[in-house]
Amino acid sequence: MTWRAWSLDLGPGYAVRAGTREDVIAAVVDDYRGGEEPAETYWIWVAVVTPQGEESELRVPVHPIEPDCTAREHKWRHISTHLNGGGVVIEEVCSACGLLRRTDTWATDPGSGMHGRAIRYMQPA
Ligand SMILES: [Zn+2]
Repeated sequence: MTWRAWSLDLGPGYAVRAGTREDVIAAVVDDYRGGEEPAETYWIWVAVVTPQGEESELRVPVHPIEPDCTAREHKWRHISTHLNGGGVVIEEVCSACGLLRRTDTWATDPGSGMHGRAIRYMQPA
């Protein structure tokens, strides 16, 4: 059972194949990243074709890759939570390296107007 998918920006010439829907979408996101890492989540259009040949298009978030910690791993400590539309914004800081992580569960995708989870990492000043 092979799923196929591609970013609508790159076109079907860049289609990837995988055994599950989740894996094929993750592969498109990995390909799309290229060398440029976003500071904050953005969304891309992805075309997905089922093993039966049914094609659909969906919005997929591309989250920034978590920067490395100076310790073995980040130790996230909660700073604040506040309401934002139908969701919340959570701010956390790593007690080891000082990295800030802001998670917005009601971020707006400017390309579709839909809401989803967005993450942003900020280095300490
Ligand atoms: Zn850290």
